[in-house]
Amino acid sequence: MARRVLRLLAVTATAAAVVIVAPGPAQAAPTFKVPFPCGQSWSGQTRTNHSPANAIDFNRTDDTGDPVVASAPGTVDRVTDLGNTSYGKYVRINHGSGYTTYYAHLNAFNVSVGQTVGYGSVIGYVGTTGGSTGPHLHYEQRLNGADIQVRFNGALALYWGTKTYTSDNACSGGNTGSGTVNTAGSPLTVRSGPGTGYASVGTVADGATVTIYCQTTGTTVTGTYGTSNIWDRIGTGRFVSDAYVYTGYDGFIPSVPRC
Ligand SMILES: [Zn+2]
Repeated sequence: MARRVLRLLAVTATAAAVVIVAPGPAQAAPTFKVPFPCGQSWSGQTRTNHSPANAIDFNRTDDTGDPVVASAPGTVDRVTDLGNTSYGKYVRINHGSGYTTYYAHLNAFNVSVGQTVGYGSVIGYVGTTGGSTGPHLHYEQRLNGADIQVRFNGALALYWGTKTYTSDNACSGGNTGSGTVNTAGSPLTVRSGPGTGYASVGTVADGATVTIYCQTTGTTVTGTYGTSNIWDRIGTGRFVSDAYVYTGYDGFIPSVPRC
């Protein structure tokens, strides 16, 4: 929380250097992300009678109209409305190397054919168009036209069943912050949500540097840097109290999004 700008700049420069080195081989599969904004959790269902079989249907409470984002960089090559049949309003993104993704039953589009999209680009909104009986996002990954089992960050989705997927899509899209944990000794408890009432999911050592993907408010905590209700999301489903994190700012970090 207290200012120490030089440290913040040094860490940011290191992160930028890593991003430049990161791109992999041209033929590698894209690193697909959950097709919703960073930090959101969605229930994804696979089932053997789905068409095509490897698609995932995503839901969350009151999801009609929620933004759907590109799961990897690419070029939009279909923005199609099939009316009351099949996919209804759907978008297809071409990721190169034969990979495409499909986003179906949208209630509205936010892209046009030929548009370049990146991680986190909003392509449309959840709906129930086409042959759909309720709002959800129907999502597919395909290779050379054939649907394949979905992977996020290289990890296979649950086949078959329903699982909660938390998005880290565009979490590190240049709008992250960093901080240094200072507890004056003991490890800092990491929680599954922004408050002391959430489950402990691990610890961070005193002195550790953390990447802050977004910030939100939660339980008020008194720590090394005073009393604060701000919580920092430092990973997927991982939150720490900002009262123990040196960020260079009192309060929210201006460049970091709200969760
Ligand atoms: Zn479906």
